[in-house]
Amino acid sequence: MSKLVLVRDTKFQDHHTPELHPESPQRLAAIDKALHRSQVINEVKQVHPRSATEDELCSVHNPGYIEHLKQDGEQALKSACIIQLDADTFISSDSYETAKLAAGAGLVALDSIKAEDVSSSFVAVRPPGHHALYDKPMGFCLFNNIAVAARYAQQKLGMKRIFIIDWDVHHGNGTQWMFYDDPSVFFVSFHQYPFWPPDSGWYTEDGAGDGKGYNLNIPLPAGTGDRGYLKAWDELVKPICLEYSPDLIMLSAGYDAHQFDPLGQQQISTPGYALLSEKLLELSLLTKAKVVGFLEGGYNTQSLSEAVVATIDVLNSGKLVKPRLLNKCSNASEEPIVKPVTGDRNPDLIDERIRDVKAYFASYWKVLR
Ligand SMILES: [Zn+2]
Repeated sequence: MSKLVLVRDTKFQDHHTPELHPESPQRLAAIDKALHRSQVINEVKQVHPRSATEDELCSVHNPGYIEHLKQDGEQALKSACIIQLDADTFISSDSYETAKLAAGAGLVALDSIKAEDVSSSFVAVRPPGHHALYDKPMGFCLFNNIAVAARYAQQKLGMKRIFIIDWDVHHGNGTQWMFYDDPSVFFVSFHQYPFWPPDSGWYTEDGAGDGKGYNLNIPLPAGTGDRGYLKAWDELVKPICLEYSPDLIMLSAGYDAHQFDPLGQQQISTPGYALLSEKLLELSLLTKAKVVGFLEGGYNTQSLSEAVVATIDVLNSGKLVKPRLLNKCSNASEEPIVKPVTGDRNPDLIDERIRDVKAYFASYWKVLR
């Protein structure tokens, strides 16, 4: 029986970026192909997205910004050009509508997991969202899809405490700042550090006001592999999530920490992503909180698509058995996954970093003491 609702639509390929831009429509085309090739597409429930309303977008964005983006989209249509919004973020004629659909996809996912007998949902969308700020696009992102959905879960579905995990290689700065003083949304970001955005995501950025201690950054040195990510999960994410006891777990699922990604320098393997997905499923089972994953980055279409299929397959299994999923991926070994594949380039530095973050957060979370 399907345990996962997949929200997908070919319309997400209507947002265009300049040629050779890493955030391209081919990313979703590759994911679609891998889902079909692996047969996973036949094992999940599928639903189509709807557009987020302006009111829903306004729960985390400035109304003036939304209007501005709409006008930029109209300008792109009139001029038949792709318009540059910042150093690396672009808007094409259909981008505004596509971005509203991406933000609305998470709301359909939430309605589905609330109403149906499923335990998770994955939202395969673009443009991505986790860098988008209250009043600014950033880093390929127009609307902050996961933040819009988190507020919807609270305001419309009565879910009070939300735990967001962001494993994209970049710091999820947009999401961090939206909930920085809000203890009802716990935000944790694994990311390469130092990296992009510059000077963003050190562990002393730990929240403000009532939200102090509810923003956990895990800044990992370049070259961190499966071992380091799994260790940080076991020693920080899992114990804090159990103590926090959320009503809903959300994932900013970026796959640009993959060892073959052209932007990041991290070393997570595809089996490593499957293991991280198992850890996510384990947290969901332990806390009885359902999971919604949102596609963020990941720019090698092959490793991206295989790792996305891995996450979907693990979550759709609904139970902690060693997944059979890699047998379905094109370059996969026939061996079952039993252990992490990649080590860390600098294990001592990574262990020290995890120790430092743990010591720092022990003042907020007694489970770390
Ligand atoms: Zn990224």
